[in-house]
Amino acid sequence: MELADVTADLTEVLLTEQQINDKIADLSRRIEQDYAGERVLLVAVLKGAVMVMADVARELKIHVELDFMAVSSYGLSTESSGVVRILKDLDTDLNGRHVIIVEDIIDSGLTLAWLRGNLASRGPKSLEILALLRKPDAAKVDVDVKYFGFDIPNAFVVGYGLDYSEKYRNLRGIAVLAPHIYA
Ligand code: 5GP
Ligand code: MG
Ligand code: MG
Repeated sequence: MELADVTADLTEVLLTEQQINDKIADLSRRIEQDYAGERVLLVAVLKGAVMVMADVARELKIHVELDFMAVSSYGLSTESSGVVRILKDLDTDLNGRHVIIVEDIIDSGLTLAWLRGNLASRGPKSLEILALLRKPDAAKVDVDVKYFGFDIPNAFVVGYGLDYSEKYRNLRGIAVLAPHIYA
């Protein structure tokens, strides 16, 4: 679905499909150089990172394996607490593997900080993070993101995997959701 198909639900287009594609290509070229001759395991957290995962994996000209986790954040309402429960764990043993965590967006960064710690304890040979989007608050948390796409303003965005109430994940671009949708 195109952003233009839901114009009335959006206030501002942040990233077009073309801008996203170009960035995914840039990041993929860097990953190919950094892991030349190696086999990489890409790990994404469901469901938001599914589009980034699919596009990065297909753009890469090195062999990759894909695995997925499902987690839920404990805590009140919309505030991310950083305390996370695993609903579906990885199928893959990380011991000795080159692992890249593929993320859609970093807001508080608490989920990612927890995830990095959890995966690091499983003995990977290397562990890096790719995140397409970053919000301003993410700067407060000390998580090193090696492959990073765009800084975006502190607004609620949808599209390219990101949802509001499970809607808008299938938009090709990324846009700010109009307040009347969640008011
Ligand atoms: P945090 O970094 O605060 O621990 O949480 C990141 C998660 O919150 C993301 O993976 C995403 O599911 C959700 N999130 C944060 N900001 C936004 C946003 O602007 N739009 C959408 N749709 N989800 C967001
Ligand atoms: Mg995510
Ligand atoms: Mg969501």
